Parts: sequence; C-alpha cells; structure tokens
Amino acid sequence: VYTKTLEAIMTNQDNRPVILTGDRPTGQLHLGHFVGSLRSRVGLQDSHHQHLLLADAQALTDNADNFEKVRRNILEVATDYLAVGIDPTKTTICVQSCLPALNELTMLYLNFVTVSRLERNPTIKAEIQLRGFERDIPAGFLCYPVAQAADITAFKATVVPVGEDQIPMIEQTNEIVRRLNRQIGQEVLPECKALLSNMSRLPGFDGKAKMSKSLGNTIVLDATDKDIKKAVNAMYTDPNHLRIEDPGQVEGNIVFTYLDAFDPNKEEVEELKAHYRRGGLGDGTVKKRLEGVLKELITPIRERRMELAKDPDYIMDILKTGTEKCRIITQDTLDEIKNGLGVFHF
Ligand code: ATP
Ligand code: MG
Repeated sequence: VYTKTLEAIMTNQDNRPVILTGDRPTGQLHLGHFVGSLRSRVGLQDSHHQHLLLADAQALTDNADNFEKVRRNILEVATDYLAVGIDPTKTTICVQSCLPALNELTMLYLNFVTVSRLERNPTIKAEIQLRGFERDIPAGFLCYPVAQAADITAFKATVVPVGEDQIPMIEQTNEIVRRLNRQIGQEVLPECKALLSNMSRLPGFDGKAKMSKSLGNTIVLDATDKDIKKAVNAMYTDPNHLRIEDPGQVEGNIVFTYLDAFDPNKEEVEELKAHYRRGGLGDGTVKKRLEGVLKELITPIRERRMELAKDPDYIMDILKTGTEKCRIITQDTLDEIKNGLGVFHF
C-alpha cells in the first residue's frame, strides 16, 4: 500500500492539490503547532498529496552553534507527527538537508530577490529582534524565506497550512513564482495559498503573543498532567476580576482564548463566557475546565508518542523512504526550472 500511494504522489495521477508544509526541528512540537497547522494536516491528508518537511537547514540559520540540537530534534518532531495522526501511507515526510535540489533552487531564486525586500519581511524583522540579531544578522537567516520559497515550489505545492507568522513567506514565494514564470515565459510554477486555521496564532501560556519554542512558553504535545496543570494555573486572567461575583472580561483573557481553541463544546464555552461577563464565575472553575480539555486532548497523543518512541528505527525508515521519494520530485522541478531559465548543463 505504501509504495502504491507514494507512486501516486509522485506522478499525481489523480490531480489532488499538493500540500507542502513543515516545521523547524528546534524542539518538540506544541499546542500552537497543533491548532495552527497539525490539526489541518491530519484532516487534509486524504484529499491532498501532502508532504511534510523537517526544515533542519532552516533551523540552522539561527542555530549555527547547535547542530546537535537540530539533528536530535528531527526524530522528535517526526515522532510528534505520527503521534497526532499523520499517516505515512498518505503523507510523505522528508528531511530538508537531504534534498540538495532545494539548495540549488534557493541559489537561483536569490537572484530574483533584493536585500531590501528581504529586510522588509515583518516576520523576519520580529525574529531578528527576538534573537538579538540586530547588529549581526546571519546571511542565511535573512535569506531563509527564499529557501522556503524553494521548498514550496519544488513540490509545486498550492496549499500551505501554516500559522499567521508565515503569511509574509507565502507572499514572498508568490513574488518569486511570478518573477520566474515571467522570466521563463511560461507558467512553470503554480502560485500557492496559505491555509490558516481558526487559531492561527496561539498565545503562549505566559500571555505572550505567540507560543513558540524560542520563547520557552510552550505546552508540548506530550506534556504530563502535572505540566498541564502548572501551565494552566500560571495563565493570567482578567486582573480586575478580583471577586467571583465581579463581572469579568473575556477578551484578552487567555484561558478563554484556549477554550475557544481546544474545547470541542462551543455552546458551553459561549455560556461560560456569558456567565463570566455577568459575574459569579470564578477563574478557578474556568481553569479547571481548560485543564480537563487539555488533558483529554494530550493524553492519547502522549501515550501514542511513548509507544512510537520505543522504535526509532521504524520512524527513521519512514523518513528515509519519504526523503528518497522527495529527492526525485524536487530534482524534477529543479531540472525544469534550469531548462526554462537556460542554465548551462552537460
Ligand atoms: P521556533 O521558535 O524555532 O521558530 P516555532 O514554535 O515558531 O519554533 P516553527 O517550527 O517555526 O515553530 O513553526 C512551524 C509551523 O507552526 C508554522 O506554520 C507556524 O506558523 C506554526 N506555528 C508555530 N507556532 C504557532 C502558534 N503559536 N500558533 C499557531 N501556529 C503556530
Ligand atoms: Mg517559528
């Protein structure tokens, strides 16, 4: 079954839309990934040709002092994928640094992008500040959106399920696509669309704007009951909601943001919000509910993850097979583009 499906992926016999998305192996995946992108990927793997890229080369652009961390986390993130329900018979999983065609594409694309355009990218600006790179930006870091354009276009992906911070990367990709198609005089590459979920930027449990590995404010997908309790208890609520009978504010109240993202019973959440606004509903009660909701979500993922972690060879095999298939797909696109542009070859 595995081979048959992969063959279909490679030739795209049934014309299903192609998805390319991925994650930086800089740490375990967290609830932000889950609502921002993972949940959609699990839902889309039947109706799309889906490829997941472990973006280790991109992770190195701001982890040049920590190759070991990036290498180790390839297996961790792949395990997370399988634990949440990514099915390797439907989705190919590959490792970015093992796909040399992506580097060649990046080098070609860099000729079609200006440095000032790269510096205008709002996500890059924010990340430079966060990492304290203002004085010394690694060139690879500034250019990673171009490498990301290479990733997406090498698969001719049209759908990219991502969080909000990735919108500028999709815009940059489409600019490159248009520029390249114009240069070649033919629609060699398709434009792509970001597919945003209804929670495309989950705040950290500390209230910071984004849950992120780099900020250390994550709830990971194999968090223990104790971790969950600790994180929920640390969440800020409405600072003016001092006594239970006081009316409380729901907007900007992170506990409600999380209930909106994770509680499957939307009606009850709306009732809770109304009650909280009226007064008479304590923070402790709302937090207890959130704790329960998160435990229910995370427990089966954690248990599945523990099972999977017993057999790392099985996961490495999946990565190897997936990467080999993707090597062919990405090389095909590279050849097509080099031909189109008129790059010398023997
Ligand atoms: P790092 O801090 O190393 O950049 P990260 O936590 O931002 O890690 P990435 O690997 O950069 O995670 O992101 C992978 C995908 O998950 C992207 O599509 C990104 O938009 C999405 N994502 C990451 N964090 C969140 C979040 N808090 N809410 C929604 N989506 C998110
Ligand atoms: Mg990130």
